[in-house]
Amino acid sequence: MTRRNMLAGNWKMNKTISEAINLAVRLKYACNSVDDRDVVLCPPYTSLKPVAETVDESPIEVGAQNMHYERSGAFTGEVSPDMIKDAGADWVILGHSERRQYFDENEELLARKLRTASDEDLKVFYCIGETEEQRDAGQVEDILKTQLEAALSGFGFDDFEELVIAYEPVWAIGTGNTATPEQANEAHGVIRDVISNLFNPGVAEKIRVIYGGSVKPHNVQELMAQPDIDGALVGGASLSADDFADIVKYDLEDEISLSDL
Ligand code: PEP
Repeated sequence: MTRRNMLAGNWKMNKTISEAINLAVRLKYACNSVDDRDVVLCPPYTSLKPVAETVDESPIEVGAQNMHYERSGAFTGEVSPDMIKDAGADWVILGHSERRQYFDENEELLARKLRTASDEDLKVFYCIGETEEQRDAGQVEDILKTQLEAALSGFGFDDFEELVIAYEPVWAIGTGNTATPEQANEAHGVIRDVISNLFNPGVAEKIRVIYGGSVKPHNVQELMAQPDIDGALVGGASLSADDFADIVKYDLEDEISLSDL
């Protein structure tokens, strides 16, 4: 089965509104002719609407980096799924390791967020991945299994508007230490096995599993050449229009130069 590639940029806590619009304009222009893969930009909440308006009428979609599991109420500082959709975003990143690490998000909380995202028809990137210590201790399979099973048990794959799994080894995020293509592909194979048991073998075949962790223009091609890698979730390199456009178009002849803009 051929799965459509997905290239998503997680801008994290970067870019003011004007900077975000500028980046989105450049990417809209640079990715204009790309129609055989999906591109999603995930700016901070404040830039969701301006970025969604900027890429409107282009194939680029927009996602939030987090959301609350309740629909409204006394949750100071939080943002609901309705607000995200109202801003023009279709996607949400859940379970990013920075949320797990700095904001104590665990599978129980993430299961609630996944339930709300599924009820509210938001498309989900669900991020999982082991730490360096866990890899060194030979626990990669156990960790991936736990992170998938504890959060996704009780769901059917069809409950989701779309569910993409992002394998993001914590030791590779923002460090410049990319997993080797073989390491990443092996982990993606584990993820498909768990998904096969959790849902069914057909879902394991069709679900997109993307890799995140120091993906750059110079290493994207060899990662994407692996059979079980269906795209990338990109942090640092998604903040540069040139770099992210190169990543999106990793195997295409580039006729468009951003310096024309
Ligand atoms: C991320 O935070 O999702 C990520 C993959 O970051 P980076 O590309 O900077 O490693």
